[in-house]
Amino acid sequence: MDAQSLLSDLKLGLRAVFVLPLRRLFGGPDGLARFERSFFPERLLPMSLEDGARLREASRCLACGACDAAVTTSDENAGGHPERLRPSLLPSVFARSLVELPFAGGDVRRLASRPELLRAAERLCPTGVPLERLAGWLLRRSGAEG
Ligand code: SF4
Repeated sequence: MDAQSLLSDLKLGLRAVFVLPLRRLFGGPDGLARFERSFFPERLLPMSLEDGARLREASRCLACGACDAAVTTSDENAGGHPERLRPSLLPSVFARSLVELPFAGGDVRRLASRPELLRAAERLCPTGVPLERLAGWLLRRSGAEG
């Protein structure tokens, strides 16, 4: 063991024996509070079991675009933004980054408000991505409900 390693071990030992107990004793922020303060403002939020299940379902998407064939011309005309009314965006774009998801809230809401379209799109999906359930979860996760 060289001097540098010994010094590092000594520092860790002193921190564990003196610094951390004193910090706890005098009410400094605990690890969880400091973790939340560091990561929550960047929307790096804890994942629930449901989050994991929905992301696994979304990961079945092959980005083949077959589900987009469920969008009819009248859907496109009614939607106002036909390029944003594509069910394939749910697994292939919106579920890819939960950090950026709030910025897509309007598009997720537009898709989630069309359950009949999403059910028709699900029937076209070769890997069985549950698009309607995915839209509901993404809507809740984006904070764009209501
Ligand atoms: S049909 Fe299924 S696999 Fe293909 S893009 Fe749509 S959700 Fe993804």
